[in-house]
Amino acid sequence: MPTVEGMATTGQLTDSGTAPTLRAVLFDMDGTLVETEELWGEAMFELAARLGGRMSDEARAATVGTSMRVAMGILHADLGIRRAEAELWADAAWVEARTAELMSDGVAWRPGAPELLRSVRAAGLATALVTTTTRAVADIVLRSIRDGLGEDPFDLTVCGDEVPARKPDPSPYLQAMAALGVEPGECVVIEDSQAGITAGLAAGAAVLGVPALQAVAPEPGLTLRDGLVGVGVRELADVLSAGRSMPVAVAAG
Ligand SMILES: [Mg+2]
Repeated sequence: MPTVEGMATTGQLTDSGTAPTLRAVLFDMDGTLVETEELWGEAMFELAARLGGRMSDEARAATVGTSMRVAMGILHADLGIRRAEAELWADAAWVEARTAELMSDGVAWRPGAPELLRSVRAAGLATALVTTTTRAVADIVLRSIRDGLGEDPFDLTVCGDEVPARKPDPSPYLQAMAALGVEPGECVVIEDSQAGITAGLAAGAAVLGVPALQAVAPEPGLTLRDGLVGVGVRELADVLSAGRSMPVAVAAG
């Protein structure tokens, strides 16, 4: 059983010499902490209409958690159109600007998210936000998160335009872990999308998956739940415990 740094442990935890310790929690943003995936979806449906088509719900689901390049590729393929490189990036910029506009009216928490952020903070765990969304757009959401909580819940934030590769590549999570000074085996990653879950597992963390718009299959190292309601530090320690007891360790690199 893992121990939780900052919390009292009991004498029952006998193998403390080898037990993993939960030191850090790394959060995805869109669709995990806040309901912003709905806004990204709205903007992409609007773009599809501007391009003269309608994006299918299946294609929309496939874009969840992906980079703008991947998302635009899915959208264009779904509409059966070809776009030049410059047009693809213009489309991506339009979706980002439209989503930012929609976010400026305020963003809604996913249920249980503020309570979890507070409990992780109260336990003294290290925290990071690791998002594929670009800094300019993420900062709009971060302002809303900080205003809602009345405090900054993150030790650091890593955005999609600040990393060498985007999720499902593990580098965004590895970059955050290095900056926090923690090992992957001491971390729980919380994600709603397959791309994010893949990134967290590939980085060597245990992952709590809370999918909403996208179906996610079980796999070693991944604990799946319906949402964040009722999830606190003790439940995250259980996620780490389940992840560490997997028969084949997921190692970084
Ligand atoms: Mg997400």
